Amino acid sequence: MSQLADKLYKESNLTDEELFYLIETNENDKRLVFLADKKRREIYGEKVFVRGLIEFTNYCKNDCYYCGIRRDNKNCLRYRLTKDEILSCCEEGYELGFRTFVLQGGEDPYFTDDIVCDIVGSIHNRFKDCAITLSIGEKSEESYKKYFEAGAERYLLRHETADENHYRKLHPSEMSLENRKKCLYTLKKIGYITGAGFMIGSPFQTTRNIISDLRFMQELKPHMIGAGPFIPHKETIFADYETGTLDLCIRITAILRLMFPYALIPATTALGTIHPLGREKGLKAGANVVMPNLSPVRVRKMYELYDNKICTGEESAQCIKCLGNRVESAGYHIVTDRGDPVFSE
Ligand code: SAH
Repeated sequence: MSQLADKLYKESNLTDEELFYLIETNENDKRLVFLADKKRREIYGEKVFVRGLIEFTNYCKNDCYYCGIRRDNKNCLRYRLTKDEILSCCEEGYELGFRTFVLQGGEDPYFTDDIVCDIVGSIHNRFKDCAITLSIGEKSEESYKKYFEAGAERYLLRHETADENHYRKLHPSEMSLENRKKCLYTLKKIGYITGAGFMIGSPFQTTRNIISDLRFMQELKPHMIGAGPFIPHKETIFADYETGTLDLCIRITAILRLMFPYALIPATTALGTIHPLGREKGLKAGANVVMPNLSPVRVRKMYELYDNKICTGEESAQCIKCLGNRVESAGYHIVTDRGDPVFSE
C-alpha cells in the first residue's frame, strides 16, 4: 500500500478501501505531505492568501453540542458589534493590506436580512476592491440571494459531517443535515464562492465518516474547504472528549489538497491552538489560506468556540505580522490581493 499517496497525486481519487488505509495508518504520511506540497506549488506556487476574520456576534439560536457559543451555554458572555465597529475593523484591515473580509457569527436573529444587507452594502461601497465573505449559518435561498445582491460573494458553511448518524450525535433534533447540505447547493447555485468542511476528530467520528465527508465534497465541489481539529469546550457536553490530533489533521489536509487540487484550504486557528507550529505544518501539507483575526481585542475572548483559542490578546496589526512571519518561515509568501480561486465550477 506504499503507492497510495502517488496514486492520489496522479488521479485525485482513491477507492473507499484505499482511503480507509491512508487515513488509518501513518505509513504514507511523509509521501502524502511531500506530494500535497508539490501539488499546491504547481497550482498556487508559494502564495498564501489572507482573509481578515471579523467575529461580529456570538449570539446563536442553535445548540450544536460541540460549540462554546451554543444557545444553552449560560456562562457565555454575549456581544454584538455595531455596523460602525464592523466598518472600523474593515478600515483597520484595509490599511494593513487585507482585501478579503470574513464576517462570521452565530445564527443571531438580531441581524435580520435588512441589517446584514446594510452592513454588506456599506463594506462593498467603501472597499470596492475587497471581497466579502459571510459565515452566518443556514438561511433561506431568498436571504442568501439578498446578501449576494448586496455584495457578498463568498460564503463559508462547514457541513460538519456528511453522515446522518454522526450528525445526530453532534446536533439537537431540531437541526438537520439535509438542510445544511441543501444550503450548500443553494449557495453554489446562486453563484457564491462556497466553502464546506468539517472538524477533524470530532466526538464519535469514524474513518468511514471522514470518507463520507470526502465523497460529499466530491459531489458538491466546494471552492473552499475548512477542516480543523475538534477542540473541547468546557461548557459543553463534550468537555471531556479528546482533541483531534495533529497527525490526523495534517494527513487530512494533505489528502484534501490532493483530492481537491484547486481548493482554497485554510491553516486554521484551531490547528494553531493544538500545536504551536500547527499552522506552519498545515501550510506545508497543502493549506494555502490564513485567517488572522480582525475583531476588536475586547471581544476576542468572548468568541470562544473551543477552549484556549489563540490570538485573543493581540491587536490586528500584531496578528498579521506574526502570521506573516509564520508563513515566511514555512517557505511561502503572503499575498494581499483578493485571492480568488483559480477555477470556477
Ligand atoms: N454559525 C456559523 C459559524 C459557525 S462557527 C455556521 O453555522 O456556519 C465556525 C466553525 O467552527 C463551525 O462550522 C465548526 O466547524 C467550528 N467549531 C465549532 N465548535 C468547535 C470546536 N469545539 N472545536 C473546533 N471547531 C469548532
